[in-house]
Amino acid sequence: MNSATTTSSTVPASGPPRSSTDRRGILFIISAPSGTGKTTLCKQLTTNLLGLWHSISYTTRTPRPGETHGHDYFFIGEETFREMIARNEFVEWAHVYGHLYGTPWKSLTEKIDQGIDVLLEIDVQGAMQVKKRFEDSVSIFILPPSMTVLRARLQTRASDTAEEIQRRLHKVKEEVWSYREYAYIVRNEDLGRSLRDLESIFWSERLKTKRLNMTWLENNFILDDEQKTEDRKDLP
Ligand code: ADP
Ligand code: 5GP
Repeated sequence: MNSATTTSSTVPASGPPRSSTDRRGILFIISAPSGTGKTTLCKQLTTNLLGLWHSISYTTRTPRPGETHGHDYFFIGEETFREMIARNEFVEWAHVYGHLYGTPWKSLTEKIDQGIDVLLEIDVQGAMQVKKRFEDSVSIFILPPSMTVLRARLQTRASDTAEEIQRRLHKVKEEVWSYREYAYIVRNEDLGRSLRDLESIFWSERLKTKRLNMTWLENNFILDDEQKTEDRKDLP
């Protein structure tokens, strides 16, 4: 088991999600310094893009105003979290800003097997662990336009104490160097623009040749009629 130590888009939801017979789901990993806007962007993305499921992490931190159990996180005690670690129920887990956070295996693999794309919104340590386990995953790093803007966003969100904000700002200096480990970088200045950038990445990844459903290709262009399987013959 891994452990870690540190402290309105304009694009409409279009087309049905790819079915389980079409391809396996893609694992998208999004990380960003706290306050950058990743939660805001990820919520909008899962609304805009059909066939994209936002994984719900477990955490020992307390809910912020407006957050609910089973929707934003599964809020659990440390003892329960440790029991889950012992039962190997996390793909990865980490200490972040003094709390434990973990990504559950079960729901994630179920969705991928069903051909549903999964969005993980996790910190840099967690992202590195998941990348090793899912080599085909797609990693995206979101950055704020500047430290000044980041500070203002954290203050506007008003969910953390001044001391906590200071701690989060301090950590950015370390986190920012992780940019090299990610396949894509998105600068979150204008929300609509960032959403369009993210949606472009998602659609491009879905269309990659390596993710092509070979059954469709074989049934339509390669096999004779009697050799064809019952798999979806009409899907691109
Ligand atoms: P994170 O999940 O990265 O910690 P949040 O999604 O909670 O960040 O966003 C932090 C604050 O910044 C929120 O008040 C949010 O409304 C605001 N915000 C996010 N993106 C933008 C943006 N592009 N322009 C202005 N404010 C933004
Ligand atoms: P917050 O408390 O602001 O919701 O999240 C704090 C940090 O923990 C963010 O960087 C968020 O992405 C990260 N985080 C949320 N869930 C997980 C998880 O399951 N694993 C890891 N490693 N980080 C997580």
